[in-house]
Amino acid sequence: MGRKNKRVEHAPRPIGGNSTETESHSDGEWHVRKLTGSSATKTYRCPGCDQEIRPATPHIVAWPADIPQGADERRHWHTPCWGKRLHRGPRG
Ligand SMILES: [Zn+2]
Repeated sequence: MGRKNKRVEHAPRPIGGNSTETESHSDGEWHVRKLTGSSATKTYRCPGCDQEIRPATPHIVAWPADIPQGADERRHWHTPCWGKRLHRGPRG
């Protein structure tokens, strides 16, 4: 009792300790966090190619920066898939 950890946080709570960058794309602003292989411990599905991202694969996590609950929309992408996300050809 007596000791309160009362802190006002202005920034959205960070996800993990890795550095997060903000990228501006034609579909809005995105927070992008690069994961190293050692911090990738689960299998994810990449929305870019619909393939699995295996554990220990360096990849990125991206989520919209312009909505408050954007962190709930995090997606794991292969790094190259994120890079060509907006340049996909007609074949879907
Ligand atoms: Zn992919």
